[in-house]
Amino acid sequence: MTAPPEGCGPIVSPRETAPVPLRQQVFECVRSQGQISRIDVAKRLNVSPASVSTLVADLLGGGLLKEVEAPRDPGSRGRPPVALRVRAEAGYVAGIKLGDMIHTGIIMDFAGSPVAEASLSRTSVRTDLDLLVEEAGALLSQLLRKAGMERNELSAVGVGMPGMVDTRRGVALWSPIIRGNDLPVAELMSERMGLPVVADNDANLVTLAELWFGAGRALSDFVVITLEYGVGMGLVMDHRVYRGAHSVGMEIGHTKVQPDGALCRCGQRGCLEAYVSDYALVREASIALDMHRSASGSAQVILESLFDQAKAGNEAARTIFRRAGRFLAAGISNVINLFDPSLVILSGARMKYDYLYAEDVLREVHTMTLNRSRTLPRIEINAWGDLVWARGAATLALAAQTEQRCGAEAGG
Ligand SMILES: [Zn+2]
Repeated sequence: MTAPPEGCGPIVSPRETAPVPLRQQVFECVRSQGQISRIDVAKRLNVSPASVSTLVADLLGGGLLKEVEAPRDPGSRGRPPVALRVRAEAGYVAGIKLGDMIHTGIIMDFAGSPVAEASLSRTSVRTDLDLLVEEAGALLSQLLRKAGMERNELSAVGVGMPGMVDTRRGVALWSPIIRGNDLPVAELMSERMGLPVVADNDANLVTLAELWFGAGRALSDFVVITLEYGVGMGLVMDHRVYRGAHSVGMEIGHTKVQPDGALCRCGQRGCLEAYVSDYALVREASIALDMHRSASGSAQVILESLFDQAKAGNEAARTIFRRAGRFLAAGISNVINLFDPSLVILSGARMKYDYLYAEDVLREVHTMTLNRSRTLPRIEINAWGDLVWARGAATLALAAQTEQRCGAEAGG
């Protein structure tokens, strides 16, 4: 490392402080509003109507926006007013979420609307990257068939997976579903699919989906905690997904809640995930309820049965959920204490196990949060289906495409 120069204050390169180009801001303003007039774009962006007009003309010429007839004010005469919309067919992207039990995929148009969806069931084992690349490729072909599209109509693919993914390099440093470390996921997927591929941690992608389509659209700072086979997290700061210095942060599932505690699938002990995730519940269920995986089938079957028994009043089953819920409460309150978000969204398939966020769990969150003089954030449950992950993956690709086609270098 070279020594910093003389002086004081943060040393920031011009690139890091460069604002989003106005052309891209105009496009993103139209997309976020669905439909809006030129004059309202100018008002929202606080720039002159003339500069908006020039950039809109350019975006119309490039086929990225289109003009539509806006509803006329009652009683007004003359030509109907004109509004702007994104030209949905300006481009298409795909999103694929790779998981333990199922891969899900979606194709989305340039306005962010879904065009086709597909999924691929698989067995829950850690596999070689080659097989995963093959499966993702097969899922993409299935998606294209469903959409009635050719591969060359897609401009990019976003891929999400659990674990530590360095988004900038497209490398999975470690993933619970892939054997090995430091795997060039994006590069291999891109070779197999013949398209540019961006990869990210799956919890970041659910967070991106909440930011673009869900409860987080109008919020500058919020948190998403995902409960699936593992526990993940995404953090939005100032309307952007925060990834950390090496883009592998936010691993809440592997924060320690018990020194020398239960063994986690990451190889360490005492991780939050080792107490609240699927495999933690399955581990407890097999011991307490004498439900053995080999005898009772898959982890999913054991989980469903555990949930049914808890609902039916089985005290041992309820205790397992209650204990997991308490650990989850500790995790949530730690996040609130650290980041002071305005909203905490609990997301993922496991949210159907409502014992995990029952009244007493939420009460526990409040007890463990330093709340003497502050308003606690809202905690919302989002039971979106599996496709939200894939939608987030497609959004990652769409965001990259938007920058490429509307950003500084794209403009005329
Ligand atoms: Zn761990």
